[in-house]
Amino acid sequence: MGQRFDAIVIGAGPAGSMCGYTLAKEGLETLIVERGKFPGAKNMWGGAYYGPFLHELFSDFWDEAPVERYILRRKFSLLTKGSSLSMEFSTQKFREPPYNSFSVLRAKFDRWLAGKAEQAGAILATGLQADDLLWDGTKVSGIKAGGDEIPANVVVACDGVNSLMAEKAGLRQNLSPEHLKLGVKEIIQLPRETIEQRFFLSGEEGMAWESLGSFTQDIPGGGFIYTNKESLSIGVVVQLSTLAEKKVKANDLLEEFKKHPGIAPYLKDGKLVEYSAHLIPSAGKTMMPALYGDGILVAGDAAGLVLVTGLALEGANFATVSGVAAAETVIAAKKRGDFSARSLVSYQHRLDKNFILKDLEMFKKAPHFLENPRLYNAYPQIACEMAAKIFTSEGKPKEKMVTLLKQAAKDRVSFLQIIKDLWQIKGAL
Ligand SMILES: Cc1cc2nc3c(=O)[nH]c(=O)nc-3n(C[C@H](O)[C@H](O)[C@H](O)COP(=O)(O)OP(=O)(O)OC[C@H]3O[C@@H](n4cnc5c(N)ncnc54)[C@H](O)[C@@H]3O)c2cc1C
Repeated sequence: MGQRFDAIVIGAGPAGSMCGYTLAKEGLETLIVERGKFPGAKNMWGGAYYGPFLHELFSDFWDEAPVERYILRRKFSLLTKGSSLSMEFSTQKFREPPYNSFSVLRAKFDRWLAGKAEQAGAILATGLQADDLLWDGTKVSGIKAGGDEIPANVVVACDGVNSLMAEKAGLRQNLSPEHLKLGVKEIIQLPRETIEQRFFLSGEEGMAWESLGSFTQDIPGGGFIYTNKESLSIGVVVQLSTLAEKKVKANDLLEEFKKHPGIAPYLKDGKLVEYSAHLIPSAGKTMMPALYGDGILVAGDAAGLVLVTGLALEGANFATVSGVAAAETVIAAKKRGDFSARSLVSYQHRLDKNFILKDLEMFKKAPHFLENPRLYNAYPQIACEMAAKIFTSEGKPKEKMVTLLKQAAKDRVSFLQIIKDLWQIKGAL
């Protein structure tokens, strides 16, 4: 390929495809390089995709996109050995377009997103890995891929959490296990009617269900279940560094989660059709690399743009928004004919203005707060023990809530510690 592109986008995940789409729509010569056989082939997530921003790009996209179900019900559970305490939220607003979020299977959804970039005029090269950057002095001037040198005015690294390109450009250091979570996930096939009966759903309604508790063996993290049309996505996401320290296998935690009496009945007679594992950049602002340099921008997971608060995990929408912001920056740079870092700094301003950097700033203490082991053991145990007392008639006078709390917390957590933890929650969330 001797052609010089306006932009080369590395990776056809949500960040890369929406970056490529925005560039090509504006008439820029755009190449998207994806190492997978097809977009989505190597990708996985939970996953619930938050839709409003995509609706701005493709009005009513759910009518044509391969989404599974719109998420009507959100459930959150605390699990201890043998008990579970749950809270569920649903609102009629979630039923109405533009839907808040959808369950999505990436092999289908990423292909659709990349197709949009191709329709807009981007060239998508699949099965091609970017191996290195080309340099013109201190400015990035293209990539090396498949033995070829491909020149471009600018490179946008949307190559995911392990971003080799951000590292080669000197924009980020080696990743540290403390900054990463490992997700392992299974897709369990079940008949549509069985899913709808078990989860009390009908039509296109879906559920997103997150859990914390003893199944992660004090390792910061949790479990998830998302209902698809004819399958369930079930997995656990856990802190990589603690996993390694404790020499625990993430898959064993997933098995523990699946066996829990509050979870197992939902999976009964399901057929395992897919298993996958992937890292998540979960340390928020702490791990954010420099977002731009001379001739290069970094977007999505490659830039660590994922929000993890313990109640929500938002990465795909952050990737979409940052990919578009990177493209808008390149379009403005092309008008100026200046692809230097001085010109590309407006990418940072764009992210500052939209919700991405504001959210990461607002919840910057959440990653540290989520390392608290009491969240995964002591507190679920206290909550479940209190619930057991509240819902049990023992033929003797009942205790007040404060007394129940004191009894359940005894030998687990001191009152002073509870107050300190509540204070930490206030700061983090
Ligand atoms: C278990 C789990 C659950 C999750 N759940 C959710 C959820 O419910 N909701 C949510 O919003 N987010 C969720 N996420 C996070 C979400 O998946 C990511 O934030 C999102 O996919 C980031 O998109 P991206 O385009 O930046 O990167 P990716 O989706 O990782 O895409 C990167 C692409 O680059 C390609 N690539 C990498 N290197 C090269 C190279 N050198 N050359 C060519 N191509 C390359 C890859 O093959 C890939 O296609 C979850 C993640 C995991 C692991």
